[in-house]
Amino acid sequence: MQPQQNNPLIFSCEFFPPKGEENASKLRRVRRKLARIHPRYYSVTFGAGGSTRDRTFETILEIQAAAKETGIEAAPHLSCVGSSRKSIREVLQAYQHQGVKRLVTLRGDLPSGMVDPGDFHYASQLVEFIRAETGDYFHIEVAAYPEVHPQARSAQADLINFKHKVEAGADSAITQYFYNVDAYLRFVERCKSVGIDLPIVPGIMPINNYVQLARFSDACGAEIPRWLRKRLEDFPDPATMSAFAIDVVSDLCYRLLEAGAPGLHFYTLNRADPTLAIWDNLGLETQPANLSAVTKI
Ligand SMILES: Cc1cc2nc3c(=O)[nH]c(=O)nc-3n(C[C@H](O)[C@H](O)[C@H](O)COP(=O)(O)OP(=O)(O)OC[C@H]3O[C@@H](n4cnc5c(N)ncnc54)[C@H](O)[C@@H]3O)c2cc1C
Repeated sequence: MQPQQNNPLIFSCEFFPPKGEENASKLRRVRRKLARIHPRYYSVTFGAGGSTRDRTFETILEIQAAAKETGIEAAPHLSCVGSSRKSIREVLQAYQHQGVKRLVTLRGDLPSGMVDPGDFHYASQLVEFIRAETGDYFHIEVAAYPEVHPQARSAQADLINFKHKVEAGADSAITQYFYNVDAYLRFVERCKSVGIDLPIVPGIMPINNYVQLARFSDACGAEIPRWLRKRLEDFPDPATMSAFAIDVVSDLCYRLLEAGAPGLHFYTLNRADPTLAIWDNLGLETQPANLSAVTKI
């Protein structure tokens, strides 16, 4: 793969919006701990159909309010399925009003029981709408699937659909998580071959709880390689698995950065320690201008 590292590496951390004050203050502590890796931005997920709209907004406001001191941007996720143009317009205006400049733009999945997809069917339509409404105001991230989105007709169709999102106005992409470096490298090559040229940042899922991860991976089409599944199944509980899991994911990150990935996006699940342990293994103490700062594990 030709390196994608034309710019300083981009690191970012993703959270889900906490429920209740206790979880909100826990997340504040997590954010403070993660600040030491100097992420470019903290993103906050958005429940499809608007189910977390207020909590996502509140969490983003806190991150945005702290940004003057931390230098860490707030990046709300915005999914369009089940939403109207009017409601999306309101959300965009609210974020603009707060000075938020980066969005992670998604289709989302219709919650069970909800049948009306609303005004948008695909993320590309949302990207188009945001550009039509707000011009170049937002930096728009979109999702990419090195192991192919589970509902895609074929790998080629998925690639072309990804291209539509890029042509609609995306600035960069974050991938679904994966544990197979080749899947990512070959995906980036295929993107280049069809003229897609934007940073595609690998999404990194630290492994905390194997049972949960296996269930989630089945649903979202992320593959846990057999050797890894078998090794993870051997551990009686998450605590005993931790050192092995951190080692595996650190090695994945190292190989991705060495191969030219433009950064890493950590799916933190609102926990700081796994991401920090991986970061420390990589020897990435501050955002490096280039890979010379990455220590071989
Ligand atoms: C980094 C990241 C963050 C995420 N955050 C959230 C979140 O906060 N909230 C949430 O609800 N979900 C989130 N998701 C999950 C995401 O919403 C699901 O994976 C969803 O199924 C697809 O969203 P998308 O934006 O990739 O959709 P799309 O890009 O619209 O693609 C969805 C499917 O439709 C196909 N497709 C696209 N365009 C067309 C077309 N014109 N004709 C036919 N088929 C087409 C694609 O090939 C694909 O199979 C996230 C995923 C990632 C990778």
